[in-house]
Amino acid sequence: MADSPHNISINQKAYKVAELLHDTPDVDVFKFKAEDGYRLKFDPGMFVMLTYSNPDTKEKITRAFSIASEPEGDTVDFFIHMIHGRITSKLETAQVGSVYYLTGPYGQFKFKPEEDRKVLFIAGGTGLAPFMSMLKYIRKLKSGTDVVLLYSIRFPNEIIRKEELEQLEKDIGMKMVITVTRQENSEGWNGEKGHIDDAMISKYTPDIMDRTTYICGPLPFVKAMKDSLAKLKVPNEKIKADVWG
Ligand SMILES: Cc1cc2nc3c(=O)[nH]c(=O)nc-3n(C[C@H](O)[C@H](O)[C@H](O)COP(=O)(O)OP(=O)(O)OC[C@H]3O[C@@H](n4cnc5c(N)ncnc54)[C@H](O)[C@@H]3O)c2cc1C
Repeated sequence: MADSPHNISINQKAYKVAELLHDTPDVDVFKFKAEDGYRLKFDPGMFVMLTYSNPDTKEKITRAFSIASEPEGDTVDFFIHMIHGRITSKLETAQVGSVYYLTGPYGQFKFKPEEDRKVLFIAGGTGLAPFMSMLKYIRKLKSGTDVVLLYSIRFPNEIIRKEELEQLEKDIGMKMVITVTRQENSEGWNGEKGHIDDAMISKYTPDIMDRTTYICGPLPFVKAMKDSLAKLKVPNEKIKADVWG
């Protein structure tokens, strides 16, 4: 079978950047639409493989990104930490209309509201992405899920989609706790400070044993969260984690 343009595999679908937001100093929000109007089907929590393809050199770079939008939404959204690596440096020059290729969805980190009535979501940085998808889904379904969100960032200006999150907090009645881990530039911050640990988890979820805990973020973060939950004697089968690295 003939290759599609740029030697892209037939499983990959072309998506255009429909909207691009420089949301925090380090994180850009990308909203994609399939060129052929296809609506990606996925469960909240899943990820896709995103490929950059250089039309001239045929160079291709592929990385995983968690979907931050809700199932059946108008766009497929990502929160991307712009670290100037191989793919993120290519995404720096993206504009509305730029084309990338997606395959998927993939992953077992899935939230099923009918299975988990009470949850604790623990997010580190852009690890908020799959939870944003889950929270929007909870609102869409009016599932009445009892949610506590613990969200760790370094500085107060790093809250991704701050207004959307605050709206979700009201709409679904979740308890949202944002903690800032660095002292610098955090004057005026009245929320939690310091890393999430067993004491902070107990403080906000005294009923932790009744909840399923979902964790997402980079490897050291996920490891630290699992250690904290182990101190609280939370059984492994009540913990789901998505590790990025
Ligand atoms: C399942 C899954 C889901 C993911 N979802 C997301 C997501 O939603 N959003 C997102 O931003 N990323 C996500 N990632 C990470 C993403 O796949 C890439 O690894 C990331 O974007 C870096 O790719 P790159 O090609 O730009 O960097 P690379 O060229 O691969 O790496 C560049 C260099 O930067 C270093 N580096 C890596 N991370 C950081 C960092 N945070 N700060 C400083 N230096 C760093 C690396 O060690 C490496 O040396 C996910 C990963 C997985 C496995």
